[in-house]
Amino acid sequence: MDFSTKLQKFAELAIQVGVNIKPGEDLMINADIVSAPFVRLAVEEAYKCGAKNVYVDWADEATALIKYLHAPMESFDEFPKWTADARTSIAKNGGAFLSIISSNPDLLKEVDPIKVSNFQKASGKALKEWRSFTGADKCKWSIVAVPSPEWAKKVFPELSEEDAISKLWDKIFDCSRVSDGDPVAAWKEHNATLKEKMNFLNKMNFKKLTYTSSKTNLTVELPEGHVWLSGASQDPKGNDFNPNIPTEEVFGMPHKYKVNGTVFSTKPLVYGGNIINNFSITFKDGKIIDWTAEEGYETLSNLIGTDDGSHYLGEVALVPYDSPISNSNIVFYTTLFDENASCHLAIGSAYATNIVGGENMSDEDKEKHGVNDSMTHVDFMVGSEDLDIVGVTGDGETVQIFKAGNWA
Ligand code: ZN
Ligand code: ZN
Repeated sequence: MDFSTKLQKFAELAIQVGVNIKPGEDLMINADIVSAPFVRLAVEEAYKCGAKNVYVDWADEATALIKYLHAPMESFDEFPKWTADARTSIAKNGGAFLSIISSNPDLLKEVDPIKVSNFQKASGKALKEWRSFTGADKCKWSIVAVPSPEWAKKVFPELSEEDAISKLWDKIFDCSRVSDGDPVAAWKEHNATLKEKMNFLNKMNFKKLTYTSSKTNLTVELPEGHVWLSGASQDPKGNDFNPNIPTEEVFGMPHKYKVNGTVFSTKPLVYGGNIINNFSITFKDGKIIDWTAEEGYETLSNLIGTDDGSHYLGEVALVPYDSPISNSNIVFYTTLFDENASCHLAIGSAYATNIVGGENMSDEDKEKHGVNDSMTHVDFMVGSEDLDIVGVTGDGETVQIFKAGNWA
């Protein structure tokens, strides 16, 4: 397949499998102008699938950076209500959301971290209602990636800009199963494989997971009524959609107050235009009580300090070390890819769908059941080739789930 055929297939994948657009539905696409050629293909594909309206919310990183460097400090405490309202209104009307990410991992390197953290808080607060739709699968949503020159050069610094972009596209096509020729069929099969692991974990009904590696020693208890999920999700009408392309994970939620021990990161984490690398986090009764970082300590501290919920975990995800993304041996500097190369945890809010009845729990119910709530949700990678994970059932039976980084 030549590049333009692959690009077309990638657009079909994003629309048919990612957000699975049905006739009469609205779609909002969030994208940087650098991805415009791909966005236009996706818009056309959405209308071919019967979309009623496709809205594109364009961003431009260069403009965003100008604001960070020159706008007054108080502007970062604000997130425009009309932007948040637009998303909520589309979600309420049964519309879907496609995010196309292309971020320069180093964009905000020279920016005052307080500005970044204030703006993260402001947007987290403003988008809370919208997130209650996506976080509980009350609307269809998906994330795919498109290379920007800066991102491609970060991943492949030894290549020219042109070669770096083309190599990153190849990797995205490979990891997203586009290169196989029939991505829509490949994803049907892939979703089914992930479901097998998910069904096994749900059948075992583990109460506790223990993580051990040369550095990590962590116990994660799961709440009562816990549900493992993977691959495709379902909207309230029962239509499948794939929130992440690619995805290799089976994910659940830790009990907010029942995580203990220390975990080490195994890949760099890009957060708010900055990199956090070689860090560790220590938990006591679910709460983060200590952390270290060789790089990006201040950024990590700001992330943990976002709100009360960002002192606790919201996601536990299992990904084999031997997965296509992991085997590529590339650090992608974007969570969408790096999280799917590695077992990970997430700081911040849990997905309501990971517990029976979670979609309709009040904030008080969530607290009672150990479901964490936060303005933020940030995955960080902890999988390695020497990671063992053992599951403990309610009867105290132990089952090896991961051995040396892979499904046992
Ligand atoms: Zn995840
Ligand atoms: Zn996550």
